[in-house]
Amino acid sequence: MNGPSPPDELPPESTHIPGEVGPGGIEIAVDREKCMGSGNCAYWAPQVFDLDDDGLAIVVGDPSGGEDRVQLAARNCPTEAITVRTR
Ligand code: SF4
Repeated sequence: MNGPSPPDELPPESTHIPGEVGPGGIEIAVDREKCMGSGNCAYWAPQVFDLDDDGLAIVVGDPSGGEDRVQLAARNCPTEAITVRTR
């Protein structure tokens, strides 16, 4: 009985919060192919970003009220792995 195994890795753009979060909506994505695990994003916006067991960034929280910090985190990402889109 060998069924399909779950994937070992998350897809590259696995962290995504749909646009209905926060006033006006904000979408955040981390390109895990670009992320080099510096942790800058978790420093600037710890309520939104964290590093997973592989040492790569994931989106963990609701950015509402913290959009400025999310933008700061995106600007300070050394590999430009974070995309922030507001509506
Ligand atoms: S700041 Fe950029 S490179 Fe550093 S952990 Fe966050 S997403 Fe990855």
